[in-house]
Amino acid sequence: MTSHPRLLAPLTVGSRTLRNRIVMGAMHTRIETLDNPTERLVAFYAERARGEAALILTNGYSPDIAGRLEADSEVFDNTTDLAPHRAITQAVHDAGGLIALQILHAGRYAKHPYAVGPSDQRARINPIEPHALSTSEVWDTIDAFARTAELAKQAGYDGVEIMGSEGYLINEFLAEATNHTRDDEFGGTFEGRCRLPLEILRASRARVGSDFLLIYRISAIDLVEDGLSGKEIAELARQVEAAGADLINTGIGWHESAVPTIAASIPRGVWTFAARHVKDAVSIPVIVSNRINDPDLAEQVLADGAGDLVSMARPLLADPQFARKVRTGDIAEINTCIGCNQACLDRIFTDRTASCMVNPRAGHEIEFTRRDPATRKRIAVVGAGPAGMSFAVEAAELGHTVTLFEAAPQLGGQLNMARVVPGKDEFNQLLRYFRVRLDRLGVDVRLNTRADADQLAGEGFDEIVLATGVTPRVPEIKGVDHPMVMSYVDVLTGARRAGERVAIIGAGGIGYDVAEYLLGHPEESLDADAFLTAWSIDPTLSTPGGLTGPPRAEVPKPAREVTLLQRKTTRPGAGLGKSTGWILKARLRAAGLTTVAGATYEEISDQGLHYRVGDRTTVLEVDTVILCAGQESERDLYQQLTERNIPAHLIGGADLAAELDAVRAIDQAARLAQVV
Ligand code: NAP
Ligand code: SF4
Repeated sequence: MTSHPRLLAPLTVGSRTLRNRIVMGAMHTRIETLDNPTERLVAFYAERARGEAALILTNGYSPDIAGRLEADSEVFDNTTDLAPHRAITQAVHDAGGLIALQILHAGRYAKHPYAVGPSDQRARINPIEPHALSTSEVWDTIDAFARTAELAKQAGYDGVEIMGSEGYLINEFLAEATNHTRDDEFGGTFEGRCRLPLEILRASRARVGSDFLLIYRISAIDLVEDGLSGKEIAELARQVEAAGADLINTGIGWHESAVPTIAASIPRGVWTFAARHVKDAVSIPVIVSNRINDPDLAEQVLADGAGDLVSMARPLLADPQFARKVRTGDIAEINTCIGCNQACLDRIFTDRTASCMVNPRAGHEIEFTRRDPATRKRIAVVGAGPAGMSFAVEAAELGHTVTLFEAAPQLGGQLNMARVVPGKDEFNQLLRYFRVRLDRLGVDVRLNTRADADQLAGEGFDEIVLATGVTPRVPEIKGVDHPMVMSYVDVLTGARRAGERVAIIGAGGIGYDVAEYLLGHPEESLDADAFLTAWSIDPTLSTPGGLTGPPRAEVPKPAREVTLLQRKTTRPGAGLGKSTGWILKARLRAAGLTTVAGATYEEISDQGLHYRVGDRTTVLEVDTVILCAGQESERDLYQQLTERNIPAHLIGGADLAAELDAVRAIDQAARLAQVV
């Protein structure tokens, strides 16, 4: 008897039977920009199909040149493009999966000069002014969607998903906010605004016949001023069904919305109310999406009747075997997506290729081909932070015998500091995953053990891997040894308590994390009602766009006063993750954080922190100064081994402290395991 009966139940839609209710959501990866794109995409999708996802939705393909998201995004408008698609569909079908092609027209979000929209009004997040489509150009666009649907069928896809959410072209036609100047049949009334997606569905159905899935991704809540109301969304959903859709997928918010929708700092499953609203309006199956990363939650969502299937995009980047592990009951072994966005969305938004922090193979499957090592070795790993644990797991999986030394009483290293920051408790999942894998792979974990050169030499290991991490940098400031000064480690481990007036020296990722730790509202990441209230979201969907007012207007300010300083003159927080930094800054701004750029630190005294900006000296009267001034590599053990001519590999922060993050640490460790 399975513990997830609803999630594992097959579902027949049209002529296709989905083997369970897990859909891999479409995700822009930019894998196509790497070398050997077809080989990579085949490997990427086939691995997820082997992992038993029922239905895979590809990343978006544009139906025409204007609809490309970026200048090098892919268009699927010609039979000459069929061959690579056939390779993908064949591989997925061979693995027992189904796959649908997403057709995405970027509209005014397009980052190239051919952007188009219902009007020439540009988006807040894109400097490019779109060309306003003429009536005949809109009909041409409808025809282009239908042509791509037909090509998808020829390429062997099981269906297409028409992307009608996230603020792209279709949304732009639907919402009054962006479609208020047209006087043709595609504007004016609600009926006129809805015409574009409905004509696309009708034209596509006419071209592909009945033996092909038409999926429409609806924006279940727009989260923009003058977006659709709940009543309009329900009406649109009914018309989408009548126009021939087999399935409705749900999307949340537009990209330009000032409300976060998928970051780890928002509660899991918070958007199911919006999917349920769509589900209640139609009789075709509905897919629930956004911030569902856990099988128990997915099962609950289905049990609650919010939808019929669950879409997971990032969770299947993190663990391609997610669905199989649910079937076999290996839930604790799921490598959970922690919602960090650091290796996926943050890379996409900065024109790089997506991978995954917790699974560096994602998008790089063809680079991780080793199944067995040439020689099975005895390997010592020193340091059980992200790099050390990752290496230990990877090496043990390949069949090596691994001993993992850790000086602290628990696994995790820097992860133990990340996981206490409000909005980052998903890091606990990464720790759980490593703990379970280390245990099941039989890694000899020696906690409370500070390995030294004598011990390592004495045990005769074949390889030594040092993941000894970093030590916090202590900047040279007069009075830095004052009792009010503490390091971020003191604060985040709970060893010391900050006072009520705090200066933070260093505005990098950790400086911001510490500010959030001191000022944040942890309940907002865990409790749906607290989140919805803080971001002014209307769960009854009775207002246009589902908003009740400006986000975070009503959040109470904490009593504590925090000032975050940096020496650079650039905007503080500029280096934070593209997809999450703005959320953190919005939270902290509402909590009263003060930031100072261009500071020269002069002294720390009983009076507080003395600093200068330009010619002006200020004494910040604080009772606590927290040092978040970066780190230096911890290499004492490496020096000891080098002195004895014992070779060792350095990974993670011990290798390079600058701009270290868990993405680089885990990736480096996993790659080293392929070659030792
Ligand atoms: P960091 O990002 O390099 O920031 C260090 C800060 O200390 C900078 O603001 C720097 O700014 C300041 N600083 C450096 N040397 C100093 C000195 N001698 N005296 C005074 N100030 C000094 O390092 P971090 O904040 O420790 O973070 C470590 C890594 O973890 C980073 O790569 C970060 O991206 C990652 N991380 C990421 C997140 C995330 O949310 N994605 C969260 C936490 C950590 P000035 O030189 O301008 O003063
Ligand atoms: Fe999830 Fe982070 Fe991996 Fe993206 S990088 S898939 S958010 S764990």
